Amino acid sequence: MIGANDDDDDDGSLGGLMDFGSGVTGRFYGWAPDRTIESNRVRYAGIADIEKAGMSFNHSPPDDAGKRCGGFVTFDSPEARTVFPNYAFWVVQSWDPMTLTPSLLCRSCGRHGFIRQGRWVNC
Ligand SMILES: [Zn+2]
Repeated sequence: MIGANDDDDDDGSLGGLMDFGSGVTGRFYGWAPDRTIESNRVRYAGIADIEKAGMSFNHSPPDDAGKRCGGFVTFDSPEARTVFPNYAFWVVQSWDPMTLTPSLLCRSCGRHGFIRQGRWVNC
């Protein structure tokens, strides 16, 4: 459901990798359905594209420094609540430096922390 944005690669990500410290990085993703497709144009009529719909976060799991694990959070907005009615949402209290609430949990390894003032803070 995450659409493409203008970027130097074509995976839908937006901008560069953010470094939150403690080995945790993040990358924004936008949501922009292909409105040249009739069914999308009808389904999403009146719903604006979301420049920053969510963010992936990644880190090295404690038991394998060579791999990365992490998760994805969707930011709260009226558009996101319309498009993703069953999702959990994170509130962006500040974009720069980023502060998110509530905390983030990696479902792969269980790492748990907050992003506050642009830094990862372990719970
Ligand atoms: Zn993890």
